Parts: sequence; structure tokens; C-alpha cells
Amino acid sequence: MQRDFPQAINARSSLNRVGQGRHFLQIPGPSNVPDRILRAIDFPTIDHRGPEFQALALRVLESVRPLFGTSGPVVLYPGSGTGAWEAALVNTLSPGDEVLMLEAGHFATLWARMATRLGLKPEMMQGSWREGVRADVIAERLKKDSQHAIKAVCVVHNETSTGITSDIAAVRKAIDSAKHPALLLVDTISALGSVEFKFDEWGVDVAVASSQKGLMMPPGMGLNAVSQKALEVSKTAKLPRAFWAWDDILEANKKGFWPSTPNTNLIYGLAEAIDMFNEEGLDRVFARHKRHSAATRACVEAWGLEIVCQNPAEHSPVLTAVMMPEGTGGKSHDADAFRAIALEKFNISLGMGLSKLAGKVFRIGHLGDFNDLSLIGALSGVEMALGLAGVPHKAGGVQAAMQSLAKTA
Ligand SMILES: *Cc1c(COP(=O)(O)O)cnc(C)c1O
Repeated sequence: MQRDFPQAINARSSLNRVGQGRHFLQIPGPSNVPDRILRAIDFPTIDHRGPEFQALALRVLESVRPLFGTSGPVVLYPGSGTGAWEAALVNTLSPGDEVLMLEAGHFATLWARMATRLGLKPEMMQGSWREGVRADVIAERLKKDSQHAIKAVCVVHNETSTGITSDIAAVRKAIDSAKHPALLLVDTISALGSVEFKFDEWGVDVAVASSQKGLMMPPGMGLNAVSQKALEVSKTAKLPRAFWAWDDILEANKKGFWPSTPNTNLIYGLAEAIDMFNEEGLDRVFARHKRHSAATRACVEAWGLEIVCQNPAEHSPVLTAVMMPEGTGGKSHDADAFRAIALEKFNISLGMGLSKLAGKVFRIGHLGDFNDLSLIGALSGVEMALGLAGVPHKAGGVQAAMQSLAKTA
């Protein structure tokens, strides 16, 4: 055991090499955790059944709601986004229920696999990994379901594997236009805090989020925002649930407590993150992300490389997924070899291609605690690494990003 500790320190210092400045963590989550949040977390853990914690929890449970755009309850779990996915399903559905899911990327596919494991019957509608979820296709499918066998529509707001953001308001309109009672469950794990989300206005029933992406925190907290309709449905939903059960947690939350031990220090972090969002103003946070996304798009286009997201209106404010150009023998240049060079030479971590995009795509995260010069630094690292890796591209990408930023400064 004693030997593990120095090794862990070594692993850290290899990314924060002395004299080389900070590591650039440009994967689309976990995102860079601002010092303010690290300092807020770095306080003694207190009694989670005591008055000090109670006051903090009551404040956080209230002030987290505007991040989702809701006046209703938000449930916080020690766990990751995957746990909060499970919570959304097990609280609202019964064994054998049909759920409509959209095959639009890696995470949508994983959520469907989880639904199958839980004993649900996901119907996976074929989608493209190059565009957002098609609301018209959902409307058409729901209109055919005259028996209302489909109990929920599950969509990913920001597909982190492709860098594409889907129009959730349009999905709600599609459900309503089909006069269908299905619940709308939305994975906004990588978008919350970076992309506008209007839970109440869009008529979302459960929103799933986690701490380590747009919320700027370390991993370890999963969140569910819950509508009145979802709460009603949960009273008769029959999937087994224990740790994830909303009712016990919401009951304890009324007094500022949890049934089991909450992640006290991450709750300090969330309180700080909420303060930071409020100081900047959520509208400005969202505008900042869109601006960085547009500059990144200008950069990649100037390199002459292809962006996975074909429709600029759907380009994620959180990340940009870039296709590697064709190499020899009909195969694309190796995205992972390129990422390894970027890490080794410039101390920058880029996101890998996931499932069917593995090796063919790299992803640039531009979310969370981020500014113009951090973006230019990150893009410069990518441009230099493209050169070193021998990936064909045109010069001038970073220049184009700087022009894009200066124009809107
Ligand atoms: C990261 C991510 C997940 C998985 O969340 P974990 O915190 O890794 O469990 C699910 N969906 C989306 C869209 C994500 O970006």
C-alpha cells in the first residue's frame, strides 16, 4: 500500500511537468476544474447530519434549479452520469416497458444497452451520427403507437461522441403533436452549464446530468431534474430501485439531508460552481461557449479537415469532433497516434473517437472553465501536432480562429 501513494503523485506530475506550465485537458469532460472550485472542495468534511451541512444543502438544492431551468426538484447522487441515467429509468418505468431511443451516437447506444439490461424494451430508431435527432421521425413513430405502448422517449441533448446538439423543444413538440403521453427523458450530461437548457419550458420530464463536464467539477456527482408528471409516474413504476429511489431522497432533502452519506465535498464544489455561473450570468456562459465553438469550426475548416457535425446550426457549443483525412490504402490517418503525439509533445489531452468512430476521429473539448487564449493555445497544440504527425492539412487554422474571436471580442 505504501508504494501506491508516491506512484499516484508521479502520475499527476507527469501531466504537470515542472517548468512546462499546466496540462491542457481538452477532452469533452472531465473539463478543467477552476481553482476556485478546487479550493471550495478542499475543506474539512463536516457532519452531514449537522446544522452547518443542512444550511448548505438547502441552499444548493434550491440554487441548482435555475441551471436546469426548472422550479421543481433536482436529485443529487454520489455517482457518475451513468448512475443518473439509471436513476431516470428505474424511477419512471416498469419491467417490459417500451422506450423509444434514437441511435445518434455512442452515448445514445450505451443508454439503450442499459435499458435492455434493466428489463426494458428499447426501440432503437436508426439515426445518423452526422446530424441531430429528427423530431419529425419521432412524431411519425409516436403517431403509429395508437395503443401508447411506448412509455418514454429518451434523447441525448449533446451527443459527446459526435459534437452534435439536438433540439429538445422540437422533440417535445413532436410528442405533443402525436398526442402521445410518453415521458421525455433527456441526457444533458455533457451540456448542462454550457448549453441553454429549459426543463420547464421544454416540457422535459427527467433531465440527467453529471458534475464533470459543463458544471466544471471533478467527477463524482450525478443529477436528475424531475417533473411533477415524472414524480406521479414514479409512484406506480415497478422497476426495482433502492439507492436510486427518488422518494426517500426527496423526503430527506426537505430538511437538507440525504438517506445515506452524500458527497459532502462535491456539494461545496457545486455551491461554488453555482456562484460562478451566477456571477458571469448564465446567458453569457452560453454565449461564450457558442463563440468558442464557432471559432473552432472556423479553425478546422481552414485546416481543410471535415467536422463530424454537418449542420453548423447543430454544432455543439461543448466540443468539436474532427474526422481524420484519408491516408494510404483507403484508411484514414490514425487519430490515436496523432493524439499520442499531441500529448507527448504539447502536453494536451484530446478526446478519442468512440465506438464506430474509434481511430477515425479526435475531439476538441471547449467547455467549462475556458477563455479565448486557452482556446487559441489548445488549437495551436492541435495544429502543431497535425504537422508533426504528418496529417495533411492547410496552414492558417489558428489564424482563422483568432480572426473569428477578434471579430466578436
Ligand atoms: C460522459 C457522458 C455520459 C456518461 O457519463 P459518466 O459520468 O461517464 O458516467 C453519458 N452521456 C453523455 C452524453 C456523456 O457525455
